[in-house]
Amino acid sequence: MRGSLLQSLQTKRTERQPNETGGVLIGQYDFSRKIIYIADMIFSPDDSIEAPTSYIRGCENLPEQIQQIAKRNYNSFCYVGEWHSHPGSCTAMSSADERLLCTISEVNETDCLLGCMIICGGVDNFSVYIRENSATHSAMFKYDEKE
Ligand SMILES: [Zn+2]
Repeated sequence: MRGSLLQSLQTKRTERQPNETGGVLIGQYDFSRKIIYIADMIFSPDDSIEAPTSYIRGCENLPEQIQQIAKRNYNSFCYVGEWHSHPGSCTAMSSADERLLCTISEVNETDCLLGCMIICGGVDNFSVYIRENSATHSAMFKYDEKE
């Protein structure tokens, strides 16, 4: 993931404080090297519901936006998952977040892809959750350890 992309997630997070916000992650899988590249994000659709303790992503114009990005990039990018912010610095998954991650991986599994979720907290930390074969892998990062 590029630092500039991470920065734009944090900027959006700060803008929408004290509410949570989020969006969709677009990227590419490299199966041989087991890497997911996050190339772009789609920011919170207009019909999303943003609240201090929850975020429900809307879907207005979403399929069109995903298609546009894919087209611009010769169809090498696709939907990889979701991201959202937490108002505090804690980036642990809530039970709703866990359910969301399961849903993402179920959707992606139909294309044999992994599910991915990013939670941003604080000013400089975020967690990445990846679900593969019913097991969840997670990693916490500080901003300067990005990529
Ligand atoms: Zn959450």
